[in-house]
Order: sequence, then structure tokens, then C-alpha cells
Amino acid sequence: MNMAGAGGTDLNPGQLWDAIVAGAGPAGSTAAALLAERGLRVLVVDRAIFPRDKMCGEYLGAGCVDLLTGFGVELRDTHPIRAMRVTAPDGTVFNAPYPEGRSGLAIRRSQLDALLLENARRKGAACLEGFRVERLLLKDGKVQGVEGRLHGGEEKQFLARIVIGAEGRNSVVARHLGLFRWNRSHRRTALGLHYEGVLPVNGFAEVFLGAGLYGILNPLGAGVANLSLVVDHDASLSKGHAGAYFAEALGRLPALRERLAQARPLEDVKVLGPMAHHAARASADGALLAGDAAGFYDPFTGEGVYMALISARLAAAVAGEALRRGDCSARFLRSYDRERSAALGGRYRLEAAIQRIIRHPRAADLVSRRLREREDAASCLMEVLGGLAWPRALLSGGFLSAFL
Ligand SMILES: Cc1cc2nc3c(=O)[nH]c(=O)nc-3n(C[C@H](O)[C@H](O)[C@H](O)COP(=O)(O)OP(=O)(O)OC[C@H]3O[C@@H](n4cnc5c(N)ncnc54)[C@H](O)[C@@H]3O)c2cc1C
Repeated sequence: MNMAGAGGTDLNPGQLWDAIVAGAGPAGSTAAALLAERGLRVLVVDRAIFPRDKMCGEYLGAGCVDLLTGFGVELRDTHPIRAMRVTAPDGTVFNAPYPEGRSGLAIRRSQLDALLLENARRKGAACLEGFRVERLLLKDGKVQGVEGRLHGGEEKQFLARIVIGAEGRNSVVARHLGLFRWNRSHRRTALGLHYEGVLPVNGFAEVFLGAGLYGILNPLGAGVANLSLVVDHDASLSKGHAGAYFAEALGRLPALRERLAQARPLEDVKVLGPMAHHAARASADGALLAGDAAGFYDPFTGEGVYMALISARLAAAVAGEALRRGDCSARFLRSYDRERSAALGGRYRLEAAIQRIIRHPRAADLVSRRLREREDAASCLMEVLGGLAWPRALLSGGFLSAFL
């Protein structure tokens, strides 16, 4: 267990925190840092001891990098991504470059998340690692705090005026409040691992589309690359035979298999799925949900961390105002749902529209051919998905004309 409060003080049992943040991923650490910056007493807890790994493509768009810099996070060991190279099911290849002078980057999640937690600690949040939240403390339907267990097994309770659930897809806060919902129409599973000896394609992340699956290869420097394969969810897919399943899926993406011909896997295949879910609401009496805890659709567009940061910023602003007014009621916190949906609704709709296209190989081939001919349109898409422009930029004549 690693227990350190603001100024390194121990956590005082029975203390009433202004805010408890459950989960110290990008959403949780960011919400905690922003609340602490307002001078609030914040405790962020995580079941893991950092640095810890998280299954992810490890790509950050340019807009996400801008947000992190704005939050005071000093990124290290990063690798620039200047463009996406997409290979369609029929072999058509197109490039989607960032505008001149802009780029995204690749960074190990173990590194990124440790830097974010460090930032929260530096801003004055108390951080408790190795503490798993198991239940909410509720009184008359109002969230009062969290209850859980330290790695050693010891049970603990922490009280707060507001709780932010940011524990990702397995959010206890969302489940305990009855808000968690699986997405029944988009059930996909990810298989992921790192390779070494991958011949670099300078500054490109590579996307490979196939029938019922896709793969994304993201370069992490020195020939190491992160590979995510996303396939239709198969309930029988367990860790036990993930390797065989992975080999079969890779065989259905010949261009990707070719790219990996000289490469060696660095670890066993990890499996995560189904992925798509959402919360019926992201606010309740005394609680908010941020990041994946409030919903996740599909990793294809590489916007998960960006959206987690945006929702954490909104959650911190609404929670900060609720604490200032002394009103953490469901009624007041409801404004968070409206703001979150205004900020992110367009991105979720765009993700769903892209999925409708790539699910059909012929549609994916057709769109890829158009984008190969119109690099300006592909670049416009990259600006939107990279968090540099709003999705409505795709409704402009310039982008739509590529398809007319
Ligand atoms: C295969 C795959 C590839 C992806 N690729 C990309 C990509 O390239 N770029 C991108 O931006 N996004 C990507 N994403 C999405 C991205 O990983 C998530 O959107 C992002 O991690 C969400 O951040 P978060 O803070 O909400 O949750 P998480 O990162 O999941 O963090 C949640 C934290 O809560 C902790 N926790 C969980 N349960 C408890 C508990 N009970 N008590 C205490 N702590 C708990 C966990 O240990 C963890 O530290 C990908 C996702 C998948 C599945």
C-alpha cells in the first residue's frame, strides 16, 4: 500500500473529505487534481499500485496532448504520431495526416497514468493506492462516502460530501447506484499485446480493417509497437485460448500479419470485452461519474483518454460549484449530464457512424478509396478525431464533397 496525503500526511479515519474520487486513471487523477487546485480536500483511491498497466492502444490525439499540457502534466517518453495509415479490407491504403505542425503521440499507459497521479498529488490531492472500493455508503439514497478494502484485507470507510466514480468500465459507483448498462447492439472484444522488432513506418499509427474485425498498430519507439485487435464479442473467448483466437483473427488481416512477419510478441495476449456500455445518468444524489465509468463505446477512434479528460474537467467544475454552494443534490448535479452530453454527444454519434461504415467491408472500401483521393478530407477527419476540431466540422462542404 502506498498512502500519502497532501504534504505526505496519513489519512485520518473519520475525516470528512470534500470529495472522494474512486479510480486514479486519466479521469480520476485529473478530476482530483482540478478539485485540489480549487483548494478542496480531495482523496483519490485506486485498487492498483502505480505504475500499473492498462489495456489500451496507447495513442493520444493532439487535442488530448493539449489538454494534458494545460493540466500541468509533463509528458515523457513519448513518440510523435503525425498521421494514421488505414488499410481497407480490399487493400486500399489512405493516409490521414494531422495538419502541418501538429501531431498526436504514443505513450505507455503505465507511464501516462503514473504521471497523471503524480500531478494530482503535486496539486494537493491525497492519494491512496492499493484500496479497492467495494460499496458506497448511502443514507436516505444520498451518497456519503465509500467502503472498501486495502490490499492486505483491512476494511476501511471514507466519508465525503461528494463522490466521483472514475473506476472505468467496472465502476462500483455506477453499479451500486443501478446506473450501469451494457450496450446490447455493439458488443466487441479487444485482444491486445506489445511486439518488438516491428519495422517502423515513420510517425504513422496503422489501422487495418477486415470483415468483422480491425487492428491498430501504434509505434512506441525502438521497434516496439502496441497492437489491439477488436473482434465481435464471443462469450467463449477466455484468457485460456486467447492466443489461438488471436492467431486466427490476425490471419483475417493479411496486411497486418505481413507487417508483423519479423516481429516477436513481448507478452501473452490480453483480452477485454465486451467493451461498450453507458450509464443511465452520470449524476446522482452526492455522486458523479467521469471517464469510462460514465460510458465507453469503442476504441477505434482513439479518443477514450481525451473524452475521459473532458468529462473529468466538467465533473470537477460541477462538483466544485456544488461544494461551494453546499448543494450536492441530484437536482443540482444534473447539470453535469447536460454539459457532458453537449461536450461529448457529437463524438459518441460520430463513433457510432464510423462503426456502421467499418462493419461493412464494401462501405469501408468505398470510403477509403474516396479518402485516398482526397487527403484534405482525410486530414479534416484526423483533426476531428484528434480533438482539434468539433465533429460538426465534418458537416462542412469541404469534407462532404469528398463523397459526392
Ligand atoms: C483495447 C483498447 C484500446 C484503447 N485504445 C485507446 C487509445 O489508443 N487511445 C485512447 O485515448 N483511448 C483508448 N482506449 C480507451 C481508454 O483506455 C479509456 O477510455 C481510458 O482509459 C478511460 O480512462 P478512465 O480514467 O475513465 O478509466 P481507466 O483508465 O480504466 O482507469 C480506472 C482506474 O480505476 C481503478 N479501479 C477500478 N476499479 C476500482 C475499484 N473498485 N476501486 C478502486 N479503483 C478501481 C483502476 O485500477 C484504474 O486505475 C482503449 C480502450 C481499449 C479497451
